[in-house]
Amino acid sequence: MSAENRVCRRCLLAEMGDDPYFRSIAAYIASLPERIRTPEPEYSRRLAACKACGELVNGICAQCGCFVELRAAKKQNRCPAYPPKWTACAGE
Ligand code: SF4
Repeated sequence: MSAENRVCRRCLLAEMGDDPYFRSIAAYIASLPERIRTPEPEYSRRLAACKACGELVNGICAQCGCFVELRAAKKQNRCPAYPPKWTACAGE
């Protein structure tokens, strides 16, 4: 099945195969400067919340249209749901 036809509820991009587009997003996340990047273990906590959320489809949040790995990677971002399932890092 091609990446275009795949529908995976509660899948992150990292779980959706070896697609060049997905790899480019992962490379972008890896290139984020430390001052804006969400530190571990908060990044893992955010993605775990997304994995358990019914709004996640094909790595994209149905609430905001973002790839959740990208949204979660920036520490000033928060989950768009109300109430949010994860929030901005303190002090940002
Ligand atoms: S609503 Fe929040 S927890 Fe759910 S997929 Fe979107 S960003 Fe993740």
